[in-house]
Amino acid sequence: MDKKIKIMLDAGHYGKYNRSPVVREYYESVQMWALCELLAEELKNYGFEVGKTRDKIETDLEVTKRGKKAKGYDLFISLHSNAVAPGGSEKTDRVCVYAAFDGINGSHRLASALAVGISDLMGTSGGYVKTRKSDNGDREYYGVLRGARSVGCPLYYLIEHSFHTNARAAKWLLDKSNLVSLARMEAKVIAGYFGAENREVKGDVDGSGELDQADIVLIKRHIVGSRELSEEQKAAADINGDGKIDIADYTAAKRMIHKK
Ligand SMILES: [Zn+2]
Repeated sequence: MDKKIKIMLDAGHYGKYNRSPVVREYYESVQMWALCELLAEELKNYGFEVGKTRDKIETDLEVTKRGKKAKGYDLFISLHSNAVAPGGSEKTDRVCVYAAFDGINGSHRLASALAVGISDLMGTSGGYVKTRKSDNGDREYYGVLRGARSVGCPLYYLIEHSFHTNARAAKWLLDKSNLVSLARMEAKVIAGYFGAENREVKGDVDGSGELDQADIVLIKRHIVGSRELSEEQKAAADINGDGKIDIADYTAAKRMIHKK
């Protein structure tokens, strides 16, 4: 990428909001906040500059103002899970990506890739691109999208990660490892759209930007049990990607250094 692409992420709600009526541990605000944090990290691995509409889950910001934070950004995404209207079917289990009502800047292409990818991963009955126009003429219905459009953000979306009124979907979204997979997949789809490559350096445990002797030491200490690594560090240390960090990773890391 020549110019750094800028992405603004919006976790849909604040505090403890939109509790699932069928899986009582589930709050839309909490799970979408977690997804937002994970997605931000994944996107950074691709070299994107990532902003967030809010710093803390405890604080709210009016929806249009959140959309307006997309000023100067190339992409805006608001993260949600949906709820059926009272009396609606709890069986409803589908992904909807709301995109520009007029398809401005070819925006339905990325929306479609996201809808299909999320639906496949979550195992929902389908993934759809949707638009919703305000009753007051040619403008977006959703405040966040209206805000993003008003400041000239070329691509803006609101993703409904299926319905938390569906027990299966809510349980799926409650699983942290599923959220990690979801963030990875969404980042990959977005990166594919912009032609970005993952710049995460394998073996770069200390995050210095390259694999060097200091990383080898960290991997060794982890293996002998004298130092515990964070989840992020473990991902970098797992060179062969088999889910565990052992002598094979240590050897592979040493070999990679010698090849440099
Ligand atoms: Zn929502």
